[in-house]
Amino acid sequence: MKDVIVIGAGISGLTCAQQLKQAGLDVSIVEKSAGVGGRMATRRLQGTWVDHGAQLISVKSDDFGRFIRKLEDKKIVKEWTRNVYQLSSSGLRPPEADNRHPRYCCPLGMTAIAKHMASELNIINNNRIVGVSHDNRKWQLISDRQEILETSAIVSTIPAPQFLPLFEEVLSTAPNFLQAVQSVKFAPSVTIMAGYSNSYDIPEEWQAIQCVDDPILSWISHDSSKHSDRSAQPVFVFQSTAEFARQSMEEADLEVAGKPLLNQAGRLLAPWLASPEWWQVHRWRYALSEESLGVSCLSTAVPLALVCAGDWCAGKNIEAAYNSGLAAADSVIDLLKN
Ligand SMILES: Cc1cc2nc3c(=O)[nH]c(=O)nc-3n(C[C@H](O)[C@H](O)[C@H](O)COP(=O)(O)OP(=O)(O)OC[C@H]3O[C@@H](n4cnc5c(N)ncnc54)[C@H](O)[C@@H]3O)c2cc1C
Repeated sequence: MKDVIVIGAGISGLTCAQQLKQAGLDVSIVEKSAGVGGRMATRRLQGTWVDHGAQLISVKSDDFGRFIRKLEDKKIVKEWTRNVYQLSSSGLRPPEADNRHPRYCCPLGMTAIAKHMASELNIINNNRIVGVSHDNRKWQLISDRQEILETSAIVSTIPAPQFLPLFEEVLSTAPNFLQAVQSVKFAPSVTIMAGYSNSYDIPEEWQAIQCVDDPILSWISHDSSKHSDRSAQPVFVFQSTAEFARQSMEEADLEVAGKPLLNQAGRLLAPWLASPEWWQVHRWRYALSEESLGVSCLSTAVPLALVCAGDWCAGKNIEAAYNSGLAAADSVIDLLKN
């Protein structure tokens, strides 16, 4: 039996598992996908790679700053830009002076961070947790491969709406914990990755653009500017607003769901952006937390040791997820001592 099983190999799960391993505990991560990184996602396509989840990393806290500096020393992370331009109905404008802080990226794609962290951890991939039960001493996690994993404590780092159907029943004796998770709301997003001809001039200001009041687009970035090989084909990433994603989430044809984003980019910046040489669509049902809990993590000893962690506990970004992973490790260590 394991001391701790962490569900999810996103940044919060990996951070938590690293801390637990350092503390000498026997820990495994169970992850439903073949890879690691969760919403820090990179897709390999057309001979290049594109970030289709998280786009950039900002740093506010000391702990996270130290973590990013170490990754910078290892050349996994580099500063990408200090200028996220704002696109509104009055046009494209540079950020205010107090918003010109470093934004980091990974030249080999966001998943490079997760791969680096995963290298010394025990991760069971392609294993989706589909059921949870317990006796008076241990948890049992049941996977879609019909495997049963036994553990003294669980750290769950999956988005709150995906946690609830798994744990609702076993948490009937912890109603406050359950209520807190139920209050978390997530917004969806549609992402387009699109490649263009090398013949276009791409202004520096298009590197990273936040769309301020557009009903369809929330984000445009020149993703290939993150890589060192500037002769490669230009690739852009477009992300939708939550409102647009809600309307197109159930559309069966992905091209129909995604085309309005390209058309809107063409209208807002340059007509050629509407006609890429190739493009792909990814839909995120749970992209960003809209209302988070304002706590670093959530823990209960009833019925047994359980901690929830992830961006949605304390915020909506990579830094919040990292800090939540750190807090979850401390929390589960305390629970196991008692
Ligand atoms: C489109 C988009 C753009 C974003 N842009 C930014 C940005 O620019 N900057 C920023 O800081 N943040 C951004 N974010 C948010 C950022 O990606 C997240 O805050 C962060 O990655 C969350 O990490 P996490 O570990 O909490 O969760 P996740 O990364 O979601 O990790 C959870 C893991 O659990 C796994 N899982 C789920 N269910 C199960 C199950 N039943 N069994 C086993 N495994 C399971 C998932 O596969 C996943 O790997 C963006 C997110 C999206 C989607």
